[in-house]
Amino acid sequence: MDNILAARANEVKKETGALADVLQEIYQQLLPVKTGKVADYIPELSKANPDGFGICVVTADGQVFEVGDTAQRFTIQSASKPFVYGLALETWGREHVLARVGVEPTGDSFNAIVLDEESRRPYNPMVNAGAIAVTDMIPGNTSTERLHRLIDYLKGFTDSEDLFVDMPTFTSERTTGHRNRAVVHLMRGFGMVSERFEESLDLYFQQCSLLVSCRDLAVMAATLANSGVNPITHRRAAWSYTVRDVLSVMYTCGMYDSAGEWAFWVGLPAKSGVSGCIFAVAPGQAGIAIYSPRIDAHGNSVRGVRVCEELSRRYNLHLFADHDRPPLFTGS
Ligand code: GLU
Repeated sequence: MDNILAARANEVKKETGALADVLQEIYQQLLPVKTGKVADYIPELSKANPDGFGICVVTADGQVFEVGDTAQRFTIQSASKPFVYGLALETWGREHVLARVGVEPTGDSFNAIVLDEESRRPYNPMVNAGAIAVTDMIPGNTSTERLHRLIDYLKGFTDSEDLFVDMPTFTSERTTGHRNRAVVHLMRGFGMVSERFEESLDLYFQQCSLLVSCRDLAVMAATLANSGVNPITHRRAAWSYTVRDVLSVMYTCGMYDSAGEWAFWVGLPAKSGVSGCIFAVAPGQAGIAIYSPRIDAHGNSVRGVRVCEELSRRYNLHLFADHDRPPLFTGS
C-alpha cells in the first residue's frame, strides 16, 4: 500500500513540480498582469504600490514557501473578519452570536446597507454590517482593553510579536467610513449592537488597519488549515469547532459578491481584503496568502484570484475534487 502511495506521490510531483518552483512559475506568469485598480475609497489605501506582489504558502506541518514581496506590510482589512468572528464565537458561544449575525450569503457588495428584514440581523459576519456587529461583541472595560484582546487573539494565529494599528489608515477609515457609520446606526436602531456602538465602530476601523505581511497571513491561514494549532509556534490559537464554523462561513461568504464563482472554481474557504490580500485555507494541507493591491470590481485582488485558481487546479485542492490522490504539498 505504501509503495503505491509513494509511486503516486512521485507521479504528482513530476506533473506539478516542487512547490517552490511552481510558486516561482506562477509568480512570473502573473507579474505582467496589471488589470484591476488599487482601492481608493479609503484614501490611505490608494498610496499602495500597485505592482506589489507576494505569494506565500505555509503547510499544515509548518513549511514555508514564498516568492516576491512577502514581507511587505499592508493593512489586513476584511481578512481580519474571520478571526474576529472566531473570537466572538469563543467568547460568547454560537447561540449568542447567531442571534445577532446570520450565516447566509448575500450576493450583495461588502458594504451594502442591508439587514435581514425578518430577523433584523446582518446576513453574515464577512460583510461589513455583520463584521461590525461581531466586533461590537468583543468584551473589555475600555476601548484599549478591547483592542488588546482582539490583537492578542489574532497574534495567536501568527508567529509575529508585532501586530499593530496603522494610524494613518485608521484615521482615513474613520473620517471617510460614512457607509459603515450608517449601517451601525441602523443596527443600533434594531437593537443588534450595544450602546457602545460608536466605540465598536472605531474598534472595527482599528481591526481593519492592523498591519500584516503576506507571510503573516499565510501562517494565519495555515493555523486554520491545521484545525486551530499554529504550525509554526505549535500553540493552539482556536478550538477546532470554532475553526469549523469560521471556515464554513468563509466558504460561502468570504469572497464578497463573487463567493459563488470562487466556490465553483477554487473550492476553498477564503477571505479577501480591499488592500489586495487574499488568504485561502486547504484544510489539513496548507494556508495560502497573496498580496497584490490591484482589485477587481468585486473587491478581490486580481492576481490573488488567479494564483488561487492556479494552485487549486494544479494541486487538486478543490474541497469537492476527487481526493483519492496522495498528499500534495510535499515541499521537495
Ligand atoms: N475597512 C474596510 C471597510 O470597512 C474593509 C473593507 C474590506 O476589506 O472589504 O470598508
